[in-house]
Amino acid sequence: MDPSRGGIDTGPYGRAWVEINPEALLNNLDVISRRGGEGMRVVPMVKADAYGLGVEEVVRVLASRDPYGFGVATVEEGLQLRTLGVTRPIMIYSPVPPGQYRAAVKHGLILSLSSLYEMRALEGAVEDASRPCPVQIEVDTGMGRAGFPAGDVDGWWPPVRDSKVLSVAGLWTHLHSADEPDPGASRKQIKAFEALWRRLDGLPGGALIHVANSAGGLRLDCEVANATRPGYFLYGGRVGDDAPDPEPVVDVRARVALVRQVPAGTTLGYGATYRARRTERWATVAIGYGDGLPRALGNRGHALMRGRRVPIIGRISMDATVVDITDVAAVEPGEAVTFIGSDAGAQIALDEVADTVGTIGYEILTGLSPRLPRVWARQP
Ligand SMILES: *Cc1c(COP(=O)(O)O)cnc(C)c1O
Repeated sequence: MDPSRGGIDTGPYGRAWVEINPEALLNNLDVISRRGGEGMRVVPMVKADAYGLGVEEVVRVLASRDPYGFGVATVEEGLQLRTLGVTRPIMIYSPVPPGQYRAAVKHGLILSLSSLYEMRALEGAVEDASRPCPVQIEVDTGMGRAGFPAGDVDGWWPPVRDSKVLSVAGLWTHLHSADEPDPGASRKQIKAFEALWRRLDGLPGGALIHVANSAGGLRLDCEVANATRPGYFLYGGRVGDDAPDPEPVVDVRARVALVRQVPAGTTLGYGATYRARRTERWATVAIGYGDGLPRALGNRGHALMRGRRVPIIGRISMDATVVDITDVAAVEPGEAVTFIGSDAGAQIALDEVADTVGTIGYEILTGLSPRLPRVWARQP
């Protein structure tokens, strides 16, 4: 069924849904790959259900570009990829509680180490010591949440290098300000990382060396990197004014359930924070903060109907949102309203919505609730 038409059912286009464009996802990946150049290994980040898009489909679509592997945040996410049949390297980028090491090792998930404490615990979790267990080494150059301290190489590198049980498959750091207009802080971190890399005698030749998330990969250069780990840009997020624009990947739409004409003075929503200033026409749309539409868009954000911007009025409820359609001719129940994405040539970008409510698009995407079916349009 064409979602832009009025047909109603209880299928994915019945009430409210997320439309995802796989070609845009691939085109964004190609931008990252081209910028990385020949030999740059790309490890798409698919943590948090691929930023809320749905990891199963994302991995299936991205596999057509033969990425080196996939990056996740948790052991559970790694196991899910194994269950989906992924045989490429799966790398975990967040510190993991020690009780989960054994499962990670058993399924060949590559953990990132930040301390000798973790190293010893992981060595203890390896049952089959005949094959070295691959790990990545995270280095802290300023992010602070994890990583071996860059300033104390001599304290941690010899024991890591000399481990009989583990083998170093990767070395990486994380930039804290890669999407800030001023690249100064990132350049400092990259310099520290490059200097550290030069001091590591005995680093295996095949190790992945990487610093860049989406913004880093598109805006900054690291002389020693041979890999990159993009996320947000793939999914249609902007990563800085001087970086290329991504193709939008996600549209969030919902259907009008009710249309009413109200006299001046009619109050709307919890707290009655909106009051009709004249005779107005309101459309009650079947989506709310329970679907992940940010509640802070109430009385502030906009939606698109027939390519026109209409204001979101009153507070957003858990299951319903009202837009003022006074200036749009003859709206019928069942029409589709777009809250994120494009409609008939008009656009409300993911990052615009994030700016309006004072957050980042990452939080908007990962906050889209399971109540919204993910509909993959136009399979390539
Ligand atoms: C999530 C994550 C990324 C991807 O970052 P984006 O800004 O989404 O491109 C890269 N590296 C690490 C360690 C991450 O946790």
